[in-house]
Amino acid sequence: KKITIAIDGFSSCGKSTMAKDLARSVGYIYVDTGAMYRAVTLYAMRHNMFNTDGTVKVDDLEKAMADIHISFELNGKTGRNDTFLNGEDVEDDIRSMAVAGHVSPIAAVPFVRKAMVVQQQAMGTKKGIVMDGRDIGTTVFPEAELKIFVTASPMVRAERRYAELKGKGLKVNFNDILKNVEERDYIDTHREVSPLRKADDAIELDNSNMTIEEQREWLLEKFRL
Ligand code: C5P
Repeated sequence: KKITIAIDGFSSCGKSTMAKDLARSVGYIYVDTGAMYRAVTLYAMRHNMFNTDGTVKVDDLEKAMADIHISFELNGKTGRNDTFLNGEDVEDDIRSMAVAGHVSPIAAVPFVRKAMVVQQQAMGTKKGIVMDGRDIGTTVFPEAELKIFVTASPMVRAERRYAELKGKGLKVNFNDILKNVEERDYIDTHREVSPLRKADDAIELDNSNMTIEEQREWLLEKFRL
């Protein structure tokens, strides 16, 4: 029997690594919902929809929502399952520090969330799905059979993000990353619509001191229960 698995938690806590890994091991579909908010953010940045103080030009964005089409598709060239925005592969662009610095205000806009949640719920009609994000267990799939809430200290998360971006050959500054992680935590937990929080029936995992291998084992065990 195939189930729905919701993996939520703070920024850069290794959710997507765990979720992707589990989906691969058990033959499930994996959906990265953060990539969807990042794609909307990239669109808004390209179309000058931010005020100088970093707030969103909400009216402009609302008019544009119908023109923003996000999908996940196999890129024949890279062999990766990438995020597409209006037919363009934006997988690399959405991972930039600039996008990370603008995404939380976009994800706090109620009509953006509404549009994303509708698409995410449509993807979940096929069972056998692992979805990661901030509100999957609370809002997108409150009936998910398995819910995990992942945490780790901000320091550990910033270190992981730093290593990841550096590994990709990007020039990054540790303090900028730590600041971004803390800012996103704050906005994501304080926004009005579906703020980041643990669902009552989610199992919490603090993976600050765990290796990827240990996290994989822990999650597989929960899956098998
Ligand atoms: O997971 P990732 O770090 O890529 O998510 C980027 C941002 O998108 C988060 O900081 C959060 O503001 C937003 N997000 C959200 N709800 C989700 C997934 C991501 O609000 N389900």
